[in-house]
Amino acid sequence: MPIYNFSAGPGMLPAPVLREVQAQFLSYKESGVSIVEMSHRSKRFTELARHLEERLRRLMAIPDEYAVLWLQGGATLQFSMVPMNLKTAGRFAYLDSGVWSQKAIADARRVGTVDVIGSARGVGYSELPTWPETIQGADYLHLTLNNTIEGTRYTALPETDVPLVADVSSNILAEHIDVRRFGLLYAGAQKNIGPAGLTVVIVRRDLISERDVPSYLSYENHVDTLLNTPSTFSMYVAERVLAWIEAEGGVDEMERRNRLKSERLYRALDTSSLFRPLVTDTTSRSLTNIPFTTGNEETDEAFRLYAEARDLIELGGHRSVGGLRASLYNAMPLEGVERLVDTMHEFEQEGHHVSYKNV
Ligand code: PMP
Repeated sequence: MPIYNFSAGPGMLPAPVLREVQAQFLSYKESGVSIVEMSHRSKRFTELARHLEERLRRLMAIPDEYAVLWLQGGATLQFSMVPMNLKTAGRFAYLDSGVWSQKAIADARRVGTVDVIGSARGVGYSELPTWPETIQGADYLHLTLNNTIEGTRYTALPETDVPLVADVSSNILAEHIDVRRFGLLYAGAQKNIGPAGLTVVIVRRDLISERDVPSYLSYENHVDTLLNTPSTFSMYVAERVLAWIEAEGGVDEMERRNRLKSERLYRALDTSSLFRPLVTDTTSRSLTNIPFTTGNEETDEAFRLYAEARDLIELGGHRSVGGLRASLYNAMPLEGVERLVDTMHEFEQEGHHVSYKNV
């Protein structure tokens, strides 16, 4: 029986891609050289990088007015690169929807003045923040479109002339995102794109300008060129993952599957007498990250171990919130979710409770 990996990231990647990468590892396209030994300026790699960008542009319908940058430093580096590069007046608006927003806010504060115009802190981040009707005078408005830890996601966006900046690390390519609504989107690759070590930034070209910051930190230095050695292996795997998504039917098909999978799990959680979802507001539930709990720490841990013994791994919640969490990225098949739901029922029926210890 296969192992189903519910990790929030690095997350599960499509098995056919991993097999292909393995088969190609020693000799990339019969070159006699591994992709990890190949110059990033070589013809082969240049071609690969072009295909990668073309595929992303097709999959997300990214217009030419946007540049696509392949960076390192994770989504975390974007917490400071965004304010450094978009700063004009030096005032930034942020919506606080959880742990990752807070980290983005903390780094932006090192660059300018942050106005937190809405926060869901008061409700423990189980809902999304609300925002004022008019938003003015900010260089940009930042939001975390899908909250990996708390399990919420925006389905409506603020109407404003201020450029929207969104962290899409955990929902890029998992659901439709209307690129034109945003000035900038960024995502760490290690969930739906490929291995860690790669970050994609999609930014409207008119927002990019020369900046007096260290060379790597300036977007301008990365537009339509490789400033330095990028994460070549991650880009290679990403190109193959994107090819897989295209072959499977694109983002529409990924979203259809992710809806099916998440609805299956939410239904089980909503009707369970033991487990409950952390996000009850059905309009803001994430399709990709579903935190849940029994309400008892020991029972949660007992279930995590029970599931692990049945090859359902990485179901522990984030260390900041505890409990349980299932991440259902593109590579997670519906069967994985069915297995999880069945296992929850079995656990419940077998009468496992607080004192459950033997797995
Ligand atoms: N933002 C979000 C929404 C995330 O889920 C994560 C990582 N899980 C990060 C930022 C941080 O990403 P990285 O580890 O690539 O810096």
